[in-house]
Amino acid sequence: MKTKSLLATATYVSLLLAQQAMYCRRLTRRDLRILIGTLTDHVDLNRHLSLMKVRSDPTCPLCQDEEDTALHLLMYSALL
Ligand SMILES: [Zn+2]
Repeated sequence: MKTKSLLATATYVSLLLAQQAMYCRRLTRRDLRILIGTLTDHVDLNRHLSLMKVRSDPTCPLCQDEEDTALHLLMYSALL
């Protein structure tokens, strides 16, 4: 029974990944770069720029409360 459930889960996950891959293949090069940059936090936000030694302060300029990351921008700063 457990094997059947595991197989169903694996099939579901592989279908999801295939759908995401098809979605990504339809993106323009620019949009794919933005998506990957956002997912990996390699975007022009203060945390990444401070790691790159471009800026000295990794703090969010909107709330001055947390590091300026893609997740923070999407989840918290949008509420401001
Ligand atoms: Zn913030």
